[in-house]
Amino acid sequence: MEKRAFVTKEMIEEIAKTYPTPFHIYDEKGIRANAKALKEAFAWNPGYKEFFAVKATPNPYLIDILRDYGCGCDCSSMTELMLSHAMGVKGEDIMFSSNDTPVEEFVYADKIGATINLDDITHIEFLEKAIGHLPKTLSCRFNPGGYFSISNSIMDNPGDAKYGFTTEQMFEGYRILKAKGVENFGIHAFLASNTVTNDYYPELARQLFELAVKLKEETGAHITFINLSGGIGVPYRPDQEANDIYLIGEGVRRAYEEILVPAGMDDVAIYTELGRFMMAPYGHLVTQVIHEKHTHKEYIGVDACAVNLMRPAMYGAYHHITVLGKENAPCDHKYDVTGSLCENNDKFAIDRMLPEIEIGDYLAIHDTGAHGFAMGYNYNGKLKSAELLLREDGSVKLIRRAETPRDYFATFDCLDIYDKFEF
Ligand SMILES: *Cc1c(COP(=O)(O)O)cnc(C)c1O
Repeated sequence: MEKRAFVTKEMIEEIAKTYPTPFHIYDEKGIRANAKALKEAFAWNPGYKEFFAVKATPNPYLIDILRDYGCGCDCSSMTELMLSHAMGVKGEDIMFSSNDTPVEEFVYADKIGATINLDDITHIEFLEKAIGHLPKTLSCRFNPGGYFSISNSIMDNPGDAKYGFTTEQMFEGYRILKAKGVENFGIHAFLASNTVTNDYYPELARQLFELAVKLKEETGAHITFINLSGGIGVPYRPDQEANDIYLIGEGVRRAYEEILVPAGMDDVAIYTELGRFMMAPYGHLVTQVIHEKHTHKEYIGVDACAVNLMRPAMYGAYHHITVLGKENAPCDHKYDVTGSLCENNDKFAIDRMLPEIEIGDYLAIHDTGAHGFAMGYNYNGKLKSAELLLREDGSVKLIRRAETPRDYFATFDCLDIYDKFEF
């Protein structure tokens, strides 16, 4: 699939007059069309709800767009809970799927009425001690171990993941919770990440539905929701084909009708906690070329660095790059595209074939709308960039300003030193 940027050189030249590069820019039109499609794909299930994984893109302006399509928030930390609550997201629209959870986060999640998804059987006692009771509704995260495969191809390795209850612990946990008065039960599992196949959710659903039937039969628990969590991926590479969310929804519906309905469980709500799928394709990191360097390799130096987008440095992840204004030029130059960190892994691309690049060119780094800005950090004293929203009418709104040195120094108690700096 050809990857085209949703911004042009002319647009960026105009925007950069007000908001200097680097910045992340998000495409409202794309976010809306995708959220609408997801909602339609699961409309067959009356209780369906997407809890957007806040960690992917924790920006209230963007989350508010998703709320127009009925989305809630999936949180994994105190500040994500605080953000969702401050935005006016109702308790029942907040899922708290955390792990290694600090006591005060359970206390706060309970206080704001979030649904708690337990990561471990020992957290039953931990939670009860923390809040003095158990909520009426609780969810348990499941990890069957081993490998997760679809038609003989291994998708991921849950056996090596720190999350969730084992199968035996799910049964024991449900029994304990039921004995302690919990009335409504959920099952959650996240068994493969960034899957670019229409078969992941349907296969996961099948496994969870079968487990749900057994859990109900053996423990008598009333299972009210099954949370397929995140894991639907996006085509980062041009040779990958995008998932078809309608086929995915239909595959889950078939499994539902084959497994849950005959077991008398036709009131189970399907939940999802998608992050990447909701946002990644609708964000670009826009950066300007400030240097070229000809040594043992050909380097292009840009004004963004791994602080703005960590995935290439952290996972060797591929992010497509468009040289704006040169969309139709031949890709006949091989470059390493680098940031300025004192780390040799600070490269957005290695040996990438691109059109001939000149200083001053703007690059759009694709698919940065999820796990992009959010993973940012401050190494080398680098500051986090602004986030902009490209609205449907073509206007641009600043939805998070860029950090300033004052922000960077704010956690020291010697601001007077800072105030003596001259810029
Ligand atoms: C990260 C995460 C998600 C979202 O994952 P994506 O790959 O972005 O869809 C959902 N749920 C939990 C518990 C997570 O940790």
